[in-house]
Amino acid sequence: MIVVMKVGSPEFEIERLSMELKSLGLTPEKIVGKHKVVLGLVGDTADLDPLQFQELSPWIEQVLRVEQPFKRASRGYRHGEASEVIVSTPNGEVLFGEHHPVVVVAGPCSVENEGMIVETAHRVKASGAHFLRGGAYKPRTSPYAFQGHGESALALLARAREVSGLGIITEVMDSPDIEVVAEVADVLQVGARNMQNFSLLKKIGAQDKPVLLKRGMAATIEDWLMAAEYILAAGNPNVILCERGIRTFDRQYARNTLDLSAIPVLRSLTHLPIMVDPSHGTGKADYVPAMAMAAIAAGTDSLMIEVHPNPSKALSDGPQSLTPERFDRLMQDLRIIGNSVNRWSKTTVWA
Ligand code: PEP
Ligand code: MN
Repeated sequence: MIVVMKVGSPEFEIERLSMELKSLGLTPEKIVGKHKVVLGLVGDTADLDPLQFQELSPWIEQVLRVEQPFKRASRGYRHGEASEVIVSTPNGEVLFGEHHPVVVVAGPCSVENEGMIVETAHRVKASGAHFLRGGAYKPRTSPYAFQGHGESALALLARAREVSGLGIITEVMDSPDIEVVAEVADVLQVGARNMQNFSLLKKIGAQDKPVLLKRGMAATIEDWLMAAEYILAAGNPNVILCERGIRTFDRQYARNTLDLSAIPVLRSLTHLPIMVDPSHGTGKADYVPAMAMAAIAAGTDSLMIEVHPNPSKALSDGPQSLTPERFDRLMQDLRIIGNSVNRWSKTTVWA
């Protein structure tokens, strides 16, 4: 249930009402929107009568039920307003959200060595990317495939961050690693294979770094939003949703089916920022540009693109990785689409 306060409601009245709601056994969460303050109520509200709530304060404009099973993640929980995720990077703050320019995250699938990660950082930054991605801990289908360099790769990401000023996005696979990963990462990634690892979601929700939650390979939109709800319910409001393709019947030509319809669907259901990953979504470098452009046209808030200095030698996901040159050309094309939908930063290339 949400309690929408009237414009100009005095702070002391919001505070008093929150106390009263607490005394009724509810846990009100104050959400300050652009125009209004909303008190979100999660808990057992099924038997409560919204009309009775209306009586609690003359400053209440409306009391509404959130019908979906995902409460905090629902668009209604913020009374229709989009949320933004603000990430501090050495280069400055980067904002993810519906009312901000498209944020571009680029880098290799895995961090392989210092030379390649630092070179990639410089190259993607020069092309206008805002974040460097790269896995230290890799979830691989085969136990015999390269598993990532682990902690030593985190040190290389820290180095790349220092020399480029780019924010870092990297995956946490296991709860005990959260702390070391969070020391380096500006955003913690939960991968598709862990989307429903509920104990990991609870722990990641209990720490402060923003979270990038990738869609599970066979997750419905509702499964995905319920996974986001775990993180929000554990106290971390900074969640970005990343569509990365789902398993369908046809894997002959593309690795996954990139579900671009998820963009407008999510927009209507949730206030959380949206990212699209056409690299894992298609599995082939040749298909990445078209899907990246389409994602911007369809309204994504952010893109994740795999870039490797030498894709044919990559230790993971080479076939879907762009070279830095190809990435640079793509960024020029994305600028055209981004400008046409008014979502491209005028200062994308860092000073
Ligand atoms: C990745 O981002 O490198 C990755 C493993 O992605 P996903 O979890 O979407 O497969
Ligand atoms: Mn990858």
